[in-house]
Amino acid sequence: MKEKIVFATNNSHKLSELRQIVGERYEILSLADIDCHDDIPETADTLEGNALLKAQWVKEHYGYDCFADDTGLEVDALGGAPGVHSARYAPGEGHDAAANTALLLKNLQGVANRKARFRTVIALLQGDRTMMFEGEVKGCILTAPRGEGGFGYDPVFMPEGWDKSFAEASAEEKNAVSHRGRATRALLEYLNH
Ligand code: IMP
Repeated sequence: MKEKIVFATNNSHKLSELRQIVGERYEILSLADIDCHDDIPETADTLEGNALLKAQWVKEHYGYDCFADDTGLEVDALGGAPGVHSARYAPGEGHDAAANTALLLKNLQGVANRKARFRTVIALLQGDRTMMFEGEVKGCILTAPRGEGGFGYDPVFMPEGWDKSFAEASAEEKNAVSHRGRATRALLEYLNH
């Protein structure tokens, strides 16, 4: 029987990316799968802190082994912003990818240094152990969105050595180099050791 582990998210894009990378050994449950509809606090000021908060919430309230991720887009010319605030960069309710992307492009208008990186941190709570994993991908911010795939800031992010954005790539191409792909493979290496 497959080992069950909760991925503390309901983001369908992240879940399908994750399930594709994980393969057959583990059954990855979402928050909805364990009937968790809580508004889990993400009040830390680092990616590490928020990933830990989310995983701890599930472990404490639902008793499952769990991992949680937090991702930020860190732009050099903006001093690392939007970083831990990437989901709520534009004013409003948050998680509005088009508004976040538009604000990013506005803040980088006329800026020559477009260097940026995505960074993902994963916190795993398994039994009584806590483990942290990290993955990053370096690249640059385009001057206009390109492509229809992916999600979030994908249309304006072009990885180093590529000539297309993440939103123009297949899921396999993105997973092979992405922040979450790398962090997840580090997680899996640990889980499978
Ligand atoms: P969170 O980890 O879900 O809180 O993500 C923070 C922000 O980064 C959200 O606005 C996401 O849309 C964005 N984001 C996370 N992962 C990716 C990605 O792989 N590509 C593009 N944007 C992402």
